[in-house]
Amino acid sequence: MPLNFIDLHCHSSCSDGELSPSELLDYASAQNIQLLAITDHDNVDAYLTLSAELGLDASNAYIKTPQKVTLLSGIELSSVWNNHGIHIVGLGMDVTHQGFQEFIEDQKKRRANRVQDIATQLTAMNIKGCDEFLAITANAQKSQAIGRKHFAEFIVRTGQAKNISQAFKHFLSDKKLKNITQYWPSISQSIDVINQSGGTAVLAHPLKYHLSRFKIHHLIKDFVDSGGRAIEVSSSMQSQESTDYLYQKLKEHNLLASVGSDFHQTGLVWQALGKFNYCLPNINTVWSQWPALASIQSH
Ligand code: AMP
Ligand code: MN
Ligand code: MN
Ligand code: MN
Repeated sequence: MPLNFIDLHCHSSCSDGELSPSELLDYASAQNIQLLAITDHDNVDAYLTLSAELGLDASNAYIKTPQKVTLLSGIELSSVWNNHGIHIVGLGMDVTHQGFQEFIEDQKKRRANRVQDIATQLTAMNIKGCDEFLAITANAQKSQAIGRKHFAEFIVRTGQAKNISQAFKHFLSDKKLKNITQYWPSISQSIDVINQSGGTAVLAHPLKYHLSRFKIHHLIKDFVDSGGRAIEVSSSMQSQESTDYLYQKLKEHNLLASVGSDFHQTGLVWQALGKFNYCLPNINTVWSQWPALASIQSH
């Protein structure tokens, strides 16, 4: 699988990633990434922190860092469509836009409420120690950034599941946790706030929701009708057949292409930064909307 110079989907420790924002930036630089968007779940703290550290204006869609990585502002908004949890990535917003900031504050509150619900449901499934976990890990401030991956790590650490994927399978999937998508805004609300703050809404990893092709077709249609403009045609663990299918959808709806690994941590070969299949001809890319970024080649 080729290594690419662009990665527009990854996570820092501001959500469920391993590396701090500055570690992630250094790591991207070491991997020769030229254009990076950190797309943490429901917050833009990484972009705010890094631009502040560099003395740069966070209201810009992108900043140039001394590590030679151009950082495009990014987020991954937890959203709901027909009771399915769907992720909308936003790229290139003015993250200081008032409506956007208010939306993020609400999103953090929803996440904090949801954490309590998850703990209650896990306890009912006989998982021990959820209250202690919350008291230590998810104190009032941090619970805004806590998600299912943190719970999965806690369940494995305490020997209540063999590994992360077993923890998800037995306790944390959308099927095991009742009504867990109810907290989130609709995809059209997420798309609206991204558009209003000058960004581009991207349908994240369309094939990772375990939806039938029939439902994906309708999801993409509703996404486009709501003002969504791009889809991730490449993400890490994806077959050529899947990429071909998404390429067809992209052409059908005249969408822009986005690419990203959904990197969370080092050491996972199937989800490494900059690693995804991407060899599509005649394609309009999401980053070429910004003239200064248009010349960056993905590979
Ligand atoms: P949340 O934002 O709380 O809904 O958690 C979603 C996150 O959980 C995803 O972004 C992944 O990082 C992680 N995740 C979901 N399913 C799995 C899985 N089967 N194995 C490992 N991580 C997963
Ligand atoms: Mn995640
Ligand atoms: Mn996602
Ligand atoms: Mn992600």
